Amino acid sequence: MTIAQEKLNQIREQVKSYLDHRSASRALTAARQEVLEARIRRKLKEHDAVIVAHYYTSPEIQALAESTGGCVSDSLEMARFGRDHLARTLVVAGVRFMGETAKILTPGKRVLMPTLEATCSLDDGCPIEEFNRFCDAHPEREVVVYANTSAAVKARADWVVTSSIALDVAEYLAEHDKPFIWAPDKHLGEYVRRQTGADILLWDGACVVHEEFKAMGVRNLKHVYPEAAVLVHPESPQDVIELADYIGSTTQIINAAQKLPNMTFIVATDQGIFYKLQQAAPEKKFVIAPTAGHGATCRSCANCPWMAMNDLESLATVLDRDDNEILVAESVSKRALRPLNRMLSFAAEIRT
Ligand code: SF4
Repeated sequence: MTIAQEKLNQIREQVKSYLDHRSASRALTAARQEVLEARIRRKLKEHDAVIVAHYYTSPEIQALAESTGGCVSDSLEMARFGRDHLARTLVVAGVRFMGETAKILTPGKRVLMPTLEATCSLDDGCPIEEFNRFCDAHPEREVVVYANTSAAVKARADWVVTSSIALDVAEYLAEHDKPFIWAPDKHLGEYVRRQTGADILLWDGACVVHEEFKAMGVRNLKHVYPEAAVLVHPESPQDVIELADYIGSTTQIINAAQKLPNMTFIVATDQGIFYKLQQAAPEKKFVIAPTAGHGATCRSCANCPWMAMNDLESLATVLDRDDNEILVAESVSKRALRPLNRMLSFAAEIRT
C-alpha cells in the first residue's frame, strides 16, 4: 500500500468519526440563525471583508455570501473573484486549498477561513514528499495538478487545472505531443484520458464524496424517474460516468440543468449544489444520486464533511476573533503562482 493510499484510508476513518460527531450536534434555531447572520453582516463591514463561498457549502452560507456582495461558485471562479475584488479581507468558505489559492493570488489581502481543519481527501492524499518522488521518477512528463492540492504540490506543477478546464488543458497538451502526470484525482484523470487520448500517468487519489456514487443505485433510480437526465461530476467512478447524460464541473452542471429540456435530474455531485440548481431552475426537480450500496464505506450521503465545517457559528467566530488566517510561505507562493496564473490566463483565453 502506498503512503497516499494509507493516508486515504485514514481520511475515510476521520470522515466517519466527524459525521458521527456532527450528527450528534444541535441544529440552529431560526432565532439563533438571525442573530448570527446580523453579527456576520456587521463584522464583514468592519473588516472590509467579503465571503467567497463554494457551491458545496450549506444553503445558509451561500445565501449570506450572495446577499452581502460575495460570490458562490466553483474553485476557478472563487480564485478569480477573490483576486479581482477590492475588499481587503477574503473570508473563504470552502476547504483549505481554496484559502491557499486565494492567498497566493492576492498576497496583499488577508484571507480568513471559518475553520483551518477543513481539508480535502484529494489534497490529503497527495503529500508533497511522495509527489516529488513520483515527479522525479518521470522527468520527461509535464506535471498537471488539480486545484484540489496543497500550495506545495502546486509549486511543483507546470499546470494547475480545475474540472471546468481539465479537458481543454489536456487537449492542448495532447496536441503538442506532451505526455504528463495527472494528480491527484484518478477518476477525473481517467475521464480526461478517455476523452482526449492524452498520454497521462495517473496519481492514485480520489474524492471521498464522489467516489461513493454507485452505478447500481443510479440505474435503480432511473427506474423511478425514467424521464430524468443524469448529471455527473467527473470525479465520480467510471461506471457512474458511463450512465451520465451530461458530465461536467459544478458550474457546467448548473448550466446544463438550465438548458436541458428534462424536468427531473439525478445529480452525482455534492448536494450543496442543490441550492444553486434550484435557484437556476426553480421549476425542475433534483434528486441526489445514491451513495449507499454494496461495499459502501462512506455515509456522507454526497455531502463533503469538510465543506460542512463551514457553518454560521464558525463564520461568526472567525470574524469576531479575527483569526484563522491563511498564510503561505513566500518561496512556495511564488512558485505556485506561476501555474495558477497560467490556469487563469488559459481559462480567459478559451472563453474569448
Ligand atoms: Fe475534496 Fe471531495 Fe470534499 Fe471536494 S467534495 S473538497 S474534492 S473531499
